[in-house]
Amino acid sequence: MKTLVINTGSSSIKFALFQMPRGTELASGLVEQIGEEKGAISLKKDGEKFSEQLQIQNHQVGLALVGSWLMDPKYALIDAPNEVKAVGHRVVHGGEAFQKTTVINSEVKEKIKELFGLAPLHNPPNYEGIEVSEKVFSEAIHVAVFDTAFHQTLPAKAYRYALPNYLYDQYGVRVYGFHGTSHRYVARVSAEHLSINPDKANLITVHLGNGASMTAVKNGKSVDTTLGMTPLTGLVMGSRVGDLDPGVIFYLEEERGYSIEKVKAMLNKQSGMKGLAGDNDLRTITNRAEAGDEQAKLALDIYCYRIKKYIGAYMAVIGPLDGIVFTAGVGENSALVRKLVCEEMSHLGIVIDDVKNEVRNDQIRDINSNKSSVNVLVTPTNEELEIAIQTYQLLK
Ligand code: AMP
Repeated sequence: MKTLVINTGSSSIKFALFQMPRGTELASGLVEQIGEEKGAISLKKDGEKFSEQLQIQNHQVGLALVGSWLMDPKYALIDAPNEVKAVGHRVVHGGEAFQKTTVINSEVKEKIKELFGLAPLHNPPNYEGIEVSEKVFSEAIHVAVFDTAFHQTLPAKAYRYALPNYLYDQYGVRVYGFHGTSHRYVARVSAEHLSINPDKANLITVHLGNGASMTAVKNGKSVDTTLGMTPLTGLVMGSRVGDLDPGVIFYLEEERGYSIEKVKAMLNKQSGMKGLAGDNDLRTITNRAEAGDEQAKLALDIYCYRIKKYIGAYMAVIGPLDGIVFTAGVGENSALVRKLVCEEMSHLGIVIDDVKNEVRNDQIRDINSNKSSVNVLVTPTNEELEIAIQTYQLLK
C-alpha cells in the first residue's frame, strides 16, 4: 500500500512516500518558501536529489506540485493520484481531544480548528495541508498523527501546573508535550535494538533538533516530558528560551518597559543558543567553542547542563533505567554535546566510550562503555516513517 506522509509548515511542505507494510521509503522531498518570490521543490529518490526553483504562491499550488512530481514518469513512483491509498498528516497539537492517531473526517477537522489557539504557528498550516491534500488525493484515506498524542499517558501529577484549578478545567492549561512522534519512534526502535520488549522499556529519550525536548518513558509510555502547554519550556533550544522564571517577564514589562509582544518574540526567536551565542546552529557554535570562543563555550555548557539536570530528574521518576537515547540533528551528530551531557555521571551508572561516541554514521549505535550500567544510544529518528507506520496500522 502506497502511503504518503505530509508535514505542512507555515511556508513549507515536507513529504515522503512509503511502501507499506515494508516501510520502504520510495521518495522524500520538500517544498520550500511557499508564498515568497522564489520557492523550490526537491525530491530524493535512491540517493539522488532533484530540485527546481519556481514561485509557489500558496499551499494548494505546493501540494498540487507534490502530486505532479510524484506522478512524473521519470521518477516511476505513481501513475495516478489514486495509487496513494493513504495520506498521514503530521498535526502538532491534538490537545486532550486526540489521544491516538485518527482518521480525518469533518468532525476531526473542526476539533483541529478549535485547537488553533494552543498552537497558532503549527495547527493552521497543518489544517491547510489536510484541506488541500483531500482535494489532490481525493480517493485516499487521510489520517492525522498528533505530536502530542504520545504524551497523553502523562499522569496528572506530571501534566498539571500548580495554577488555580479553573485554568485547567475551563481553558485546558496543562502540559501537552511535543515531538511525540519522534520520542515514540526512537523509544520503540531503541528497545528493539536492546532486545527489550518496547512495552517494558524504561528510557530517557533526548530529542535535540532546532526544537528540543526530553521524555521519561516508563514501560514504553511517556510519563513526563520537558515541553509544556506550548513548545517554549524545558531545554535550551535553537532560539527558544526553555525553562524560565515567569517573574522575568513581569520585571521586563513593569520595570524595563518591554511590551508583551516584544517579550514573546524575544523568548521564541532571540533566546536559546541564538541569545547566548548569537547563532542557533549548533555546528557553528561547536566549531567556535573548539576554537576557544568563550561565549560559545558557555552557551554549550548551559545547553548541556540543562539536559544533564533532566536526566537526573527523570532517573528519579522512572526507576531502573534501560537506556538514554540521543536523537535528531544535534543528538545524532554532535559527539561533543553527548560527551558534555554524559561526563561525570558514573555515580548514576552512565559512562560513555569516547571512541564509540566519535563514530559517525546514520545507524542506531551504542556509545556507552562496558563499565556503564545504563545503555547510551544514538538512534536516528524518522518521524515520517513513524507517521506512515501509524497510518498503516490504523487502516489495517
Ligand atoms: P533538526 O531540527 O533535527 O533537523 O536539527 C537541526 C539542528 O541540528 C541544527 O541546529 C543543526 O545545527 C544541528 N546539527 C546538525 N548536524 C550537526 C553537527 N554535526 N553538530 C552539531 N549540530 C548539528
